[in-house]
Amino acid sequence: MTEHEVAAGGTPDLDRRLADAVERLGHGLRSLAQRTAREHGLTPLQQQAVLALARQPGIRREVSALAAEFDVTTPTMSDAVSALERKGLVGRSPGRDGRRRLLTLTAGGDEVARRLQPWDGPLLTALEGVPAADRATTLGSLLHVIAELQRQGVVSVARTCPSCRFFGANTYRDPVAPHHCHLLRIPLPLADLRVDCPEHEPAAT
Ligand code: SF4
Repeated sequence: MTEHEVAAGGTPDLDRRLADAVERLGHGLRSLAQRTAREHGLTPLQQQAVLALARQPGIRREVSALAAEFDVTTPTMSDAVSALERKGLVGRSPGRDGRRRLLTLTAGGDEVARRLQPWDGPLLTALEGVPAADRATTLGSLLHVIAELQRQGVVSVARTCPSCRFFGANTYRDPVAPHHCHLLRIPLPLADLRVDCPEHEPAAT
């Protein structure tokens, strides 16, 4: 057993099995997304775009922003948005430069977004079976991993606390609320860490 394995609690290949578990979770969620998208006559990318436009339109109303968000090329996202326009779910309005490029859900798009909201219900139900303290710790650990992947260039967009310039890591000795937000000037309990914060500003790399 290696020194690393001993430090990890004496469980060989823990990181390998964690990575495999995350990959399995990703497979399951992709399959779930494909199913719900198909039920609504959409592709998974179109479904993601509708949900993104419904959640925080202020920061994702352009094709290029959506493309970065979902790690696809701008032409690929442009095709998905054009299909949504043809289906009457998305419209465009003028941006600051007067060109018609700001994306907005139509009334029909809002209705589809409302019906799509519970697409990941099975995952949320599964999480309910995990103790609250474990869920909070898992959130902190996953956000740490996402921030590290962002530093490595694997994840392109993530507005999470650990990747934010206002994040004060381990400011307090309280294990339940160890971090601090220097913008909002509040302690950040693990359970309250943000995954997609509108105030996020990238930390210097
Ligand atoms: S601004 Fe938002 S993302 Fe940044 S540390 Fe504060 S709560 Fe977290």
